[in-house]
Amino acid sequence: MSALADLYKEMSGCRLCEIAKTRTKVVPGEGAENAEILFIGEAPGYHEDQMGRPFVGPAGQLLDKLLASINLKRHQVHIANVIKCRPPNNREPSQIEIDNCHQWLDKQIALLHPKMIVTLGRYSMAKFFPNKSISKIHGTGVKMNGIVYFAMYHPAAALHQQSLRQTLEDDMLKIPKYLAEMQKPVEVKPEPPPPAQQLSMF
Ligand code: URA
Repeated sequence: MSALADLYKEMSGCRLCEIAKTRTKVVPGEGAENAEILFIGEAPGYHEDQMGRPFVGPAGQLLDKLLASINLKRHQVHIANVIKCRPPNNREPSQIEIDNCHQWLDKQIALLHPKMIVTLGRYSMAKFFPNKSISKIHGTGVKMNGIVYFAMYHPAAALHQQSLRQTLEDDMLKIPKYLAEMQKPVEVKPEPPPPAQQLSMF
């Protein structure tokens, strides 16, 4: 079993939060273990809780379409959430749930070491872009410690607000450019020749 599979098994037994009592299944994440891109959403909803898989409901169907627009299938990327259990009645995650789940997400990122992390929605954005506003930074990326962080609206937002659909589509199309930029070889200056050796006079 891989270290990631071990981690996901360990996550499945987590009982740190009250919502462990109401969840059906923990939703650790899924996708390629060597994925270049990790998408991070908010929290599992009804369908995800039933299946133990991220983004399998209506928001997931839109995510699949967005991925297809850049010629990717979900098994080629990795998909996870800030919190791994469904908050009852789809309420927003609480700070304590986010804090408890940080350790899982951090370990997940360390094992996957993706080239790019795409945050889906406010909660995921807040982890990497604290105090920023999604309406200002969506569709932009920053590089920190060798990873590009790129913020997007949550696909569910576009299901409720049709005008965001085009924005999400446009932002998704920028992802390959960011990745290609990462892949570019870094130009290194040729080593200067060693200083001419002083000839001794005897
Ligand atoms: N919304 C999320 O943030 N995550 C899911 O897995 C599904 C819907």
